[in-house]
Amino acid sequence: MKQQQKVTYLSQSRFTPSPERVLVSTVCRDVYHDSRDHSKPSSITSNGFQNGFGEYSTHLPEEHKFFTNQPSYGLSFLEANVIGPTYLHYPESSELERQMASSKYEVLCLSAYTWSLPWAIETAIKAKNTYGFKEVWLGGYAVMTDEPLISKHFDRLFWGYSESSMNQAIGKEPIEIQDIRHPDLSTYAYFLGKESTIGHVLFQRGCSNKCTYCADPVFNPGGEPCLSFSEIERVLDHYKYKNIRSIYFSNQETKMHTVYARSIIDAMKKREMRFGMLTSFPALLAKGHDGIKELHDNGMNFLLLGLESLDESNLTKTNRRARSKMMYDTLKLLRDLKIILTTTYMICFEDDTVEKIKDAKNKMIHDLGVTVNLFNITMPLPGTPMYWEYKSKQLIFDWNWSRWTGNHLVWKHPTISPEQAVELLAELRAEVNSPVHNPNVRSIWQARQNSHNNIYTHDYDNSILMYP
Ligand code: SF4
Repeated sequence: MKQQQKVTYLSQSRFTPSPERVLVSTVCRDVYHDSRDHSKPSSITSNGFQNGFGEYSTHLPEEHKFFTNQPSYGLSFLEANVIGPTYLHYPESSELERQMASSKYEVLCLSAYTWSLPWAIETAIKAKNTYGFKEVWLGGYAVMTDEPLISKHFDRLFWGYSESSMNQAIGKEPIEIQDIRHPDLSTYAYFLGKESTIGHVLFQRGCSNKCTYCADPVFNPGGEPCLSFSEIERVLDHYKYKNIRSIYFSNQETKMHTVYARSIIDAMKKREMRFGMLTSFPALLAKGHDGIKELHDNGMNFLLLGLESLDESNLTKTNRRARSKMMYDTLKLLRDLKIILTTTYMICFEDDTVEKIKDAKNKMIHDLGVTVNLFNITMPLPGTPMYWEYKSKQLIFDWNWSRWTGNHLVWKHPTISPEQAVELLAELRAEVNSPVHNPNVRSIWQARQNSHNNIYTHDYDNSILMYP
């Protein structure tokens, strides 16, 4: 089965470098640190990992912050499959510069998000003008940006997960999906006072839904077929060898009720593993409430679910398949099952008001049993239907891409000002995610402390041990 991978050729050279002459890098860990023009991100750690919670715990006191040290999925998959190039994972700027100056390479391939596009453009200019690189290639969500400087400074854009197209670009064979190797994505996590190492697994990349604000349906339309089952078994064995017993399925929308996923559940049970996953309400509910109970009985103890909005008109307008009642009923069941629940939520959708957002905050804390919520301000990511709509209506006013992190309002909202949006974001992150304000978070902290003292065992304890 072929992967749907796409390359846009901006210069028509079709130059084929030898593999060892290619340098591949993510954004540098110290990006924008000294810059007055760009926002410094919280999502990259000083030791060179991605912090999956970095942007979401910004308004918590130090002792309540939660974080991960997570490898870059995209770069790790490339490195495991495309052999020959040199890969730099969130390097220091000085290390990237040293490699660029070494004269060993003639192609630089950068992986960037929308917010790191200004860095990628500056680096591309330096690579060509200062160090004489023949070509600079770009991958990651940044390729979707209609920024004129992209065609000026890059030669090729790689869309989606690009192992096959990269392999061909360096003169090798395409890679079929069943031959893709899964990298080690062991992730250190500190969550609600507990340290753990989780084995991240992506058995199917991309998503077949079409939410109007989401980058993935544009970056990787329709998603990909599943990786081979034997490869997933191999990576589970690898994690077991490393004494990792908690697995996190990080597919964009994990479908755990399929025949294929059932085999994975059996494979995990055989290895005495428990699991959590990132998924959507419709995928979780594919077999109704009984299906959720069955997953729970088979070891599912934490979930990251896309809530995104509690407002029906926002859900309809953005093509979300979940509906409020469906979400409320499911959350109640998850609460009864004591599954630790992290959700994602976007504020400042078109029909949001300050009052509606504050009301949603109170519901999350008091009615829905949410433990932690990853809040963002809605942004019309370049390339998405929402972007083209807002651009044509001239609603976008902030063209500094480094601010497109979900921490700023970059478009003209009908009722909420950019300052109000930032204040609301701070309030929600500080209250919903805090043991001081949210009793769901508090009970888990208390259970953890009691379990440390060996005087009390709460039902949540096993979950806490495993949770990212
Ligand atoms: S379900 Fe999630 S990953 Fe899929 S299109 Fe919607 S927001 Fe994107």
